[in-house]
Amino acid sequence: MASIDGLPPLREVINTHELFAKKALGQNFLLDLNLTSKIARQAGDLANSDVLEVGPGPGGLTRALLHEGARRVVAIEQDERCLPALAEVSAHYGDKLEVLQGDALKIDPLAHLSAPIRIVSNLPYNVGTELLTRWLSPPEWPPFWQSLTLMFQKEVAQRIVAQPRTKAYGRLSILAQWRCEARIVMEIPPAAFTPPPKVTSAVVHLERLDQPRFQADAKTLSRVVAQAFNQRRKMLRASLKGIAPDLEDRLLAADIKPTQRAEEIGLEQFCKLSELIGK
Ligand code: SAM
Repeated sequence: MASIDGLPPLREVINTHELFAKKALGQNFLLDLNLTSKIARQAGDLANSDVLEVGPGPGGLTRALLHEGARRVVAIEQDERCLPALAEVSAHYGDKLEVLQGDALKIDPLAHLSAPIRIVSNLPYNVGTELLTRWLSPPEWPPFWQSLTLMFQKEVAQRIVAQPRTKAYGRLSILAQWRCEARIVMEIPPAAFTPPPKVTSAVVHLERLDQPRFQADAKTLSRVVAQAFNQRRKMLRASLKGIAPDLEDRLLAADIKPTQRAEEIGLEQFCKLSELIGK
């Protein structure tokens, strides 16, 4: 059966190159190019952007990004077995695809990319949260990327977009929403993957804001939020103990009752508190 782009169907690619999935590399592949195209279309203006993809695997999402008109795709893949399949994609698309082989946590792809840059990935579960945290926490804002369109386990996606007074609300919600517009754009059932994972997945789209929503120092905010949510059931006067002298006065100055818990505090109050603590 022909596929949308004239290249062999992904199931055939997997068989030809013997790409049986490795659990340790978080390999759950998407083989339906109509579905990967739908994900690619969530990323915004691809034609005028370079795309960074982490973990292309056999190339399902990569092919969709190119088919949807991405200006260039730079993909970082750790598994050497995938390289021949990706080389075929690169040849088919006139070298618009560049593959960097190695660990995305160790490779800096910036020299290979031109702005504007959109990051689009079906992330390996073992490094997904770490990569997201890094992309959200550069010392300077705006960051090198324009948007992030990322697949996570649904539970992680919910943490990114969560509001106060919910179980999912925490450090990731604050980090993401402070400087981005974040929303869940698709849910994907386990059956869409080969092999199927145990949990439902979701795609989150984060569009960077030019300015943070509220004034705060990134490092201090990150420290305050990490400590506050580390013991999320405790009152803030206990969970933040030792973070600064006169803690209760600073909490009150930020319109926070010392008896409140981290999950009751909104983004603006956390920013205000971190400014008062940083002083
Ligand atoms: N994009 C493909 C798809 O949607 O079918 C594959 C997604 S699969 C969930 C994750 C991919 O990330 C695998 O191809 C895996 O080999 C790769 N990977 C795992 N750890 C990695 C790392 N640290 N750096 C780069 N790639 C990694």
